[in-house]
Amino acid sequence: MTADALAQLRADIVEVGRRLWSRGYVASNDGNISVRLDDGRLLMTPASVSKGFMTPEMMVITDLNGTLLEGAPGRKPSSEARMHLVVYRSRPDINAVVHAHPPLATGFAVAGIPLDRAVLAEVVTTLGSIPIAEYGTPSTPALADAVEPYVKAHDGLLLANHGALALGTDLFGAYYKMETIEHFANISLVARLLGREYLLSREEVGRLQQLRGTYGIASPAPICSDPSGGGAGAGEACQVVVAPSAPGEQLVPNTDVTVAPEARAAFERGEAVEVGTDGAIRLTYGQLTALIDEAVRQLT
Ligand SMILES: [Zn+2]
Repeated sequence: MTADALAQLRADIVEVGRRLWSRGYVASNDGNISVRLDDGRLLMTPASVSKGFMTPEMMVITDLNGTLLEGAPGRKPSSEARMHLVVYRSRPDINAVVHAHPPLATGFAVAGIPLDRAVLAEVVTTLGSIPIAEYGTPSTPALADAVEPYVKAHDGLLLANHGALALGTDLFGAYYKMETIEHFANISLVARLLGREYLLSREEVGRLQQLRGTYGIASPAPICSDPSGGGAGAGEACQVVVAPSAPGEQLVPNTDVTVAPEARAAFERGEAVEVGTDGAIRLTYGQLTALIDEAVRQLT
């Protein structure tokens, strides 16, 4: 790698860090960014710096075991370097890793809700499913161990009670996936707050997978849209996406929750109802008022 190319990568990491910070994806010294150099070494952010205010000379260079090879005096590799190393060892096709704590995606990670529903065509074609890796104490081998089974088949994942991880063939590719994860979390949250959600049908997901092939968008693993067909270890072989089969339909109402018949009927009439996993119906204020008015009318 030429000195100019290395200088450009250092500058690119500074720019990606500035974007993570300015979009509120990291607070304090959170997050870390790394790039695989063409000689196999890794260029990464140092420990204990705000990602919004880095300079190119702050970056450190390590080998694939995380041993510090180059860095300004006092600079050490990121405390989450192990998590990056696991990715580079498992995925020869990946050359950049971005880790951050974007608040909406991290909210899903805290709630234990994976972003694995087939909802947006762009997400299906670029990221597929975004599962949650089990909790591992940050800065310890436990976090790297938790991430390892998922990175084989996924370019984006949530980290339970922690944040998100995005992988790319280049640095900006990894950064853009982080943006997509947070954007998807934002849209998913709004749809669920509105009380209705339609899923792409399994057949439509199949068409999108073909498009992905046509446009040459690489995928680490095929999408398998039947969660029941997976079982233990499915996350390594394929990406499990919630997409019900509905031949002839592109969109289907989400039936991922236990739905009481009354709520299902209301949902199909297009009324906004919130349905809990307990099957309880939660009415909007307007619906509740209408019910009370009707009851009062019958009494008088
Ligand atoms: Zn973190």
